[in-house]
Amino acid sequence: KFNALVIADVDGKPQASFKELGLGDLPDLDVLVEVACSTLNYKDGLAVSGKQKIARKPPLIGGIDLAGKVVESASPDWAVGDRVVVNGWGLSEVHNGGYSRYQRVKPEWIVRLPDAISFEQAMAIGTAGYTAALCVNALERWGAITPGSGDVLVTGAAGGVGSVAIALLASAGYRVTASTGRQSEAEYLRGLGASEIIDRATLSEKGPPLQKERWAGAVDSVGSVTLANVLSQTVYGGAVAACGLAGGADLPATVLPHILRGVALLGVDSVMAPHALRAAAWSRLEKDLDFDKLSAMTTVEPMSRLPELAVDILAGKIRGRVVIDVTR
Ligand code: NAP
Repeated sequence: KFNALVIADVDGKPQASFKELGLGDLPDLDVLVEVACSTLNYKDGLAVSGKQKIARKPPLIGGIDLAGKVVESASPDWAVGDRVVVNGWGLSEVHNGGYSRYQRVKPEWIVRLPDAISFEQAMAIGTAGYTAALCVNALERWGAITPGSGDVLVTGAAGGVGSVAIALLASAGYRVTASTGRQSEAEYLRGLGASEIIDRATLSEKGPPLQKERWAGAVDSVGSVTLANVLSQTVYGGAVAACGLAGGADLPATVLPHILRGVALLGVDSVMAPHALRAAAWSRLEKDLDFDKLSAMTTVEPMSRLPELAVDILAGKIRGRVVIDVTR
């Protein structure tokens, strides 16, 4: 028997509670993973707090990420003892997720964890960090940024995606500007590698459609007016990788930056991202991420605290990344 956080439907509303489960309660999928740890992302905050109906087929075990060891496998691709990570693929949305000591998953969802990355580090990265890597890779693949091409802006800087994006960009040689609402985190953000800190309030009021060109590229996890302003401030030929909606899902913008400056808006999705993009993101993280910086942005919390932590992440109170110890 083991403990898991289950999101059920109670009178049409999602409600999370801890349940004692056995292996027989898990889905009939080919690979059984002993979960070492999971993590807390913004989407987990929405799911666990019940603020949004993330679990579309309740009851479901929450947690969009897991890292652990294979303990049973009916797949030729995975063997007992393999160190693995799963991000997205509908975990906690339509499939059971990582807030559980054991989970069964489909072989094709699994990424082999690089040897140099521990389970705890993998979940310190989690979907937020792997998405940050997808964003940086998208900007480079587009050809918008090379080190020396100018400042790269990161919005939602003290959050999970933002913190990892800053660390990755800085170690790859980019000059990074961090936009945050928490000036108290300025030292933390400089420690991750930000050269400049701006107040997110400067991006949250609606501005003209074309503004002074400032950013060669940007990683945006905020959306809404912030993203519209970032697009308006991006240099000719630059690009913005948009992955989030912490400030809102709307986009009150004009086409002018796109049709007059050739600015590209690159959408980034982590959930259904194909294997090639995932592998490239994880190998970038293995190569470029400074693990001392990763540990500086990470706290480890017991699973029992998830209900409070979920509320905190939605309130923008969580700094960096939270690893969830599923044994406590
Ligand atoms: P997080 O740790 O909560 O970070 C979000 C940050 O955004 C906050 O720390 C805060 O940074 C800023 N923020 C919060 N509310 C804001 C507001 N009203 N206006 C402006 N800024 C605000 O969350 P996360 O896990 O990094 O995720 C960030 C976003 O990316 C979420 O919307 C998430 O759903 C999305 N996401 C999408 C994908 C994908 O596949 N597309 C993958 C991962 C995450 P400061 O305090 O520094 O201002």
